[in-house]
Amino acid sequence: MTQCLFCRIIKKEIPGRIVYEDETALAFEDINPQTPVHILVVPKKHIDSLSHLTKTDKDLIGSLFLIVNSLAKARNLAQSGFRTVINTGPGGGQTVYHLHVHLMGGRQMTWPPG
Ligand code: AMP
Ligand code: ZN
Repeated sequence: MTQCLFCRIIKKEIPGRIVYEDETALAFEDINPQTPVHILVVPKKHIDSLSHLTKTDKDLIGSLFLIVNSLAKARNLAQSGFRTVINTGPGGGQTVYHLHVHLMGGRQMTWPPG
């Protein structure tokens, strides 16, 4: 998946403002932030979307949300609250086909989303 934008950020072939990294995941600032805090948490393993998740990814998806939890605390969002988003497929507004969790906060969010 060398053409995949997020795989290229993971491989450091293109720059990303990385805020967290471990053996299985990477988190970096969204290039076009929609909120004061807008971080993308991605698995290092290429998975096209949430629709492509399998049982073998059970631990991996859990790890992504623990990372979201700790980043939210580190950015002082835990008390005020924050939003997590996973856009899936064209109807879900997904534009980059490498599974990622948006961590968004720092302003009041509204519902319903667009
Ligand atoms: P989605 O629409 O859910 O697939 O989200 C893709 C996100 O990736 C968008 O919020 C983009 O702003 C973001 N994005 C696109 N290119 C980059 C990049 N080079 N570095 C960081 N974020 C990016
Ligand atoms: Zn990828």
